[in-house]
Amino acid sequence: MKHIAEQFPLLMPATLPPVSIAPVEVTTPAPIKKHHRYGPSRLGYLDECAGFTSRSGTNDAAEEGTTLHERMEEILQLVVKGKAKTAAEGLRMLSARIDFTDEERDYLRFCCVRCDLYISRNPQQILTENEITVSGEDGKMLNHGTLDVAFVWGDVAIIIDFKFGWVPVKHARENLQGRNYALGMFQKILGLRAVGVEFVQPKLGWFSTVSYKRIQMAEMFQRISDVIANAEFVQSNPDKAQPLMKPGVYCQYCSLSGSCAVLSNHRALAASKFNNLPAPVSFKGLELTKPMDIALARYWVDIIEAGVKEIKQRAFEIAELQGGEISCVLPNGEQIVYAVAEKNADRSLGAPIEIAEALKEFLTPEEILGAAELALGKLEPIAKNALVEAAKQRGEKLTKKAAWESVVSTLEANGLLTRPDGKIRFLKRKTRPLVV
Ligand code: SF4
Repeated sequence: MKHIAEQFPLLMPATLPPVSIAPVEVTTPAPIKKHHRYGPSRLGYLDECAGFTSRSGTNDAAEEGTTLHERMEEILQLVVKGKAKTAAEGLRMLSARIDFTDEERDYLRFCCVRCDLYISRNPQQILTENEITVSGEDGKMLNHGTLDVAFVWGDVAIIIDFKFGWVPVKHARENLQGRNYALGMFQKILGLRAVGVEFVQPKLGWFSTVSYKRIQMAEMFQRISDVIANAEFVQSNPDKAQPLMKPGVYCQYCSLSGSCAVLSNHRALAASKFNNLPAPVSFKGLELTKPMDIALARYWVDIIEAGVKEIKQRAFEIAELQGGEISCVLPNGEQIVYAVAEKNADRSLGAPIEIAEALKEFLTPEEILGAAELALGKLEPIAKNALVEAAKQRGEKLTKKAAWESVVSTLEANGLLTRPDGKIRFLKRKTRPLVV
């Protein structure tokens, strides 16, 4: 029978000089922070721009990804504990108590199929949600992260990382997160000869694999420590940061995007070409902090935003004419595709009174009205027309303005039209004549 390393489509590395970093026994007496500032999942962004800074907080997509990761962890734990023979069986067991949507089940099934490929080869260990650290020869920790699952057979391990987003991640061959995990595995399990890494992206029905040999550890360490060294340099030398910063699609995930000097420069250059205005020369350093620079950046945003809606509409029309798709290729070779897609129109509710009647067994009219959103703008034309019409029936004349004033004063007298205390503060753009 073939050795386990030869059973998978792992790419054998190029020949490298026989140097390696002595594997370090990692000891972690101090508690490890949940996310390392330069952890594996951030390396790809940091490689593109050393100034990249993760946003804190969460959003719907991140929450969904976290939940699906947790589900895969539960499924794999059923296998680890011997309650399920395969991940597919684990998914069936979990589905009996969790009401998955069809999409969620499809995404999990895709991940389970990939895991079962390896589970069927009887791994000696299945590590889930395992902390991986990378340390230098001096034992100093470089970074750490948590891998989703690793299957281990003696001297070979396969790591799988699930990606539940829609944006394609880099192929495993170029993916620094995978390289970081593989290096951490070599350091964690000293007997490993080869580590394979697989990224599984179920929403795209896609996966990619790569393999590393122990002899590559020095090169892997160098690549990762270079990225981290650049990121540290940028943070401690903001005035010299710009050569290591490069705006790209990842700027949307960067917490500096509102104040980034380099991104503002690019916006300004784009706007100045369009509007024939001089580009600012003052954006320096890592972030914009001078009031004048921020004001200038805010102005360029106004210029860029003008016409954005029309561009989106025109892009849709052209895509329709082009058979449903338009695309472009970025300088880094990545292809951006805009494809015409369909989704259900938003559902709309009927009138509150009819809803109250239909649901009277379950909810009181007050509860229904509590959920209804009354808008002053919607009420105004209805009320005006009703009052003007009623006056007409009585043979009186009432202007719409007077009708609305009467409605407003009635609502105010009943405490039903109020304005919260305090003012809303916002930036209003003014143009003053040139001061000479
Ligand atoms: S916003 Fe600035 S610092 Fe952040 S990734 Fe983009 S270029 Fe880099």
